[in-house]
Amino acid sequence: VTPIVVGSTGGTKQSKLMAEAHNHMPQGVAENYRYWGDEATVFVSKSKGCVLTDVDGKEFTDFRLGYGPIILGYCDERVDRAVCDEITNRGVISGFSTALDAEVIKQVKRLCPQIEKMRFANSGTEAVMGAVRTARGFTGRTKVAIVEGGFHGLQDEVMWKANLEGWNMRSDTTPEVIPFGAGQRPNTAVCCNPTGLTLLSLNNFQMLDEYFHQYGHLTAAVMIEPIIGNAGSIAATKEWLQHLRDLCTKHGTMLIFDEVKCGFRVAKGGAQELYGIYADLTTYAKAMGNGYPVACFGGRKDVMDVIGSFKGGVVHGGTFTANMIAISAAHATLDILESTDALATCDRVGTDIMAVLGRVFDAHNVQHTFSGPPAMFGIHFAKDVPQNYRDWRKEEYELYGKFAWNLIKYGVMLEPDSREPWFICEAHQTMDLQWLEDVAMRSMTEACA
Ligand code: PLP
Repeated sequence: VTPIVVGSTGGTKQSKLMAEAHNHMPQGVAENYRYWGDEATVFVSKSKGCVLTDVDGKEFTDFRLGYGPIILGYCDERVDRAVCDEITNRGVISGFSTALDAEVIKQVKRLCPQIEKMRFANSGTEAVMGAVRTARGFTGRTKVAIVEGGFHGLQDEVMWKANLEGWNMRSDTTPEVIPFGAGQRPNTAVCCNPTGLTLLSLNNFQMLDEYFHQYGHLTAAVMIEPIIGNAGSIAATKEWLQHLRDLCTKHGTMLIFDEVKCGFRVAKGGAQELYGIYADLTTYAKAMGNGYPVACFGGRKDVMDVIGSFKGGVVHGGTFTANMIAISAAHATLDILESTDALATCDRVGTDIMAVLGRVFDAHNVQHTFSGPPAMFGIHFAKDVPQNYRDWRKEEYELYGKFAWNLIKYGVMLEPDSREPWFICEAHQTMDLQWLEDVAMRSMTEACA
């Protein structure tokens, strides 16, 4: 959908910065996903609470929240002060352990009881890499399966997707598996390859049964986002997730829940608390540090204990791993999440916002459903709640794109792609819901025109 820039981004300073940035970075941005077109790419000058201000002084109430890490609010003083105190007194890295490492892990273990042992990482990508390698080290197997529509970071081997473009949804063939982009190592994603990656479809029992029948004994791990934060918060059903859990147990396959997006957001114990179904290994990142770059992976003690510098051990390390910025941010954020009702506030505000948006869609006779928990909900212009990424493909996502660009024009920031959920943070509790309803009403009227 073409970006709408009049009166939103595309101001004088934005244009100058964009023109200049093209000289220095591919597409003029520091990472691909920030490029929204020359006129619409956002340059931020300030962020506080739930409000972003762009370089031309335009304010946005933000539901994008940097792809989800902000759970309390931008520039949360409680977290920022803890980080500043820590690095002022102790510095950022020494390449040695500190007492705070285990303290943070104890916090995670209290909130997420399936974590028995844990290691830190610097990003979701790195946490996924650690979890997958650990699963392979423990099982001695290579093959991995993931789910269509999910995203697990930037390492080559998990950046494969189903090509639904031109694929006949009603056919019983499976879609082609293609890389996210150029430059990836070829042929790592070949379903029938005993070492390759397979893409499954969420909530599809038959596909899961057939996969395990054929490849279960070869599979090191099945890794899924139980609530797909990269496909409109489409959620696994409890029955399907339990079936997956049972099959993994039966075949000695590691079940990895990638909770990089939903961890410490959808509940204190993440998706696993909501479902009551537990993975062998879990990855967490984003909300864990309220925007500071901290991540981790952990799970069963016997599985995690394959990591180490002993002969045959799984290698895990990194210069910046468990640096004091990351650790102190996680310590302060998790302390707030554990001891306050910040997440209950996010749930309440998210529920209110869904009600506002529901009224707007009803007023325009737009068929819609919501999916996922209130702190990270997806909007679907469709009759039924989608069960998987193939269902998303059949929705009116272009109408959603028009609606989203209009919202951005009127000062509501979100990703103009319905695969990215609306993220709620504690600071949204101060926002004016009537204002949101008014701008959403205008945005939808214009989108339907
Ligand atoms: N896993 C999931 C579920 C994600 O949503 C993401 C990023 O959005 C990643 C992994 C990769 O995390 P990062 O961007 O921190 O490398």
